[in-house]
Amino acid sequence: MTTLFTFPKGGVHPPESKKLTADKKIEVLPTPSELEIILGQHIGAPCTPTVARKTEVGEGQMIGEVLKGLGVPVHAPAAGKIKAVSSSAHPLQVKAPSITIAVDAEAQPVVYDRNEWKNEDAKALLEKVKNAGIIGIGGAGFPTHVKLSPPSTAPIDTLVLNGAECEPYITADHRQMVEHADEIIEGSKIILRILGINNCLIGVENNKPDAIAALSKAAEKAAEPEYTIEVRALEVKYPQGSEKQLIHSLTGRKVPGYALPSAVGVVVQNVSTAKTIYDGVTLDKPLYEKVITVSGKGIARPANLLVKVGTRLADIVDFLGGTTPELQKVVLGGPMMGFAVSSLDIPITKTTSSVLFLTEDEIDTTPHSQCIRCGWCLDACPMGLEPKEVGIYVEANRGEDTEQFGIFECFECGSCAYVCPAKRPLVQFVRLAKMKAKRPQ
Ligand code: SF4
Ligand code: SF4
Repeated sequence: MTTLFTFPKGGVHPPESKKLTADKKIEVLPTPSELEIILGQHIGAPCTPTVARKTEVGEGQMIGEVLKGLGVPVHAPAAGKIKAVSSSAHPLQVKAPSITIAVDAEAQPVVYDRNEWKNEDAKALLEKVKNAGIIGIGGAGFPTHVKLSPPSTAPIDTLVLNGAECEPYITADHRQMVEHADEIIEGSKIILRILGINNCLIGVENNKPDAIAALSKAAEKAAEPEYTIEVRALEVKYPQGSEKQLIHSLTGRKVPGYALPSAVGVVVQNVSTAKTIYDGVTLDKPLYEKVITVSGKGIARPANLLVKVGTRLADIVDFLGGTTPELQKVVLGGPMMGFAVSSLDIPITKTTSSVLFLTEDEIDTTPHSQCIRCGWCLDACPMGLEPKEVGIYVEANRGEDTEQFGIFECFECGSCAYVCPAKRPLVQFVRLAKMKAKRPQ
């Protein structure tokens, strides 16, 4: 029997709801006539435009650069003419600086030739990752070249590749692992070379046996004496894919409070980011398109799609045959950590992993009530926090006194809210508390 790796504390088992798309091959969404590229897709200041209105641009050309601070450039996802350098609807903010491209429908797609990366040193490889505009494509958008440059005071010995994909509905990483296993393994070798280490552990939840098999086969085929790449099956438990829980599951190491994975010698990257690093380094192809899952009973044809960054949700809905009459809510990201959006004008960014079109029977609209002190949220929290206390304090207008409950350790996974019988909006309470309380130094 396969040993399943897992983390010790908390976690929940929401309905997986992955069957709608798990077996659906990645389809290419035809490039829409217009793309709207947001200039601030990463953590840090937005890019400064390098093109003006009416400029002709080619596919993959840089259109926004980082002048100072943290960040990575953005690139044109298709050839065309710059229609506007202004602002557009944003997934989180009302408006954000953006560049609109009127796509040239006659332009031929760029064909990228393969480079041999093994002759290049770590510094040159890291520079390629940065120039390709790569950020962590499943999360908050942290620039990957920064994550691959841990401080010299924190020696790294292990790369953890995250293939858990524990959020319900989402199957984009699953399909990447099945269809692009060889590229993911080669991407992991590039990361190992950059980090100057040789040990990689890939964690995949056990509900994706075809992904585990594909990656294991690819790792065996590409085996080299200088690298140890091992695929491990994880217990199906949410939030198996969060950094600290995944590190604990795979290595047994516990990342201390408020510390980064480098404190225990680990760097974590997502499997799809490894594929993007492969593209950026071996093909010199910037990150301007990505695989997303479009699912839920509110869309006519759920699918896994390769879409250009800047594609509006409305273009995706058109391609998939429209929404169903029962549609109630559109969510960017998964049902546990995603957020509802009210407009289909919003464009896909480098960090969009999925768009869910949910019907009434897929969402919970029960109003919340008083805490009954059942303690279920404490049992569910993988960080051992006390979300019930945070909620009580916030309702009493005492958000500034909640640091004692470790709120800055909360990564807003939603496990507590999922189990709460009183349907209390515990994640929203924590978010409000974080705005009021003082973060410990
Ligand atoms: S949202 Fe925060 S408090 Fe709630 S279970 Fe997750 S980590 Fe714990
Ligand atoms: S699960 Fe809900 S009702 Fe139970 S203790 Fe936590 S907040 Fe209170």
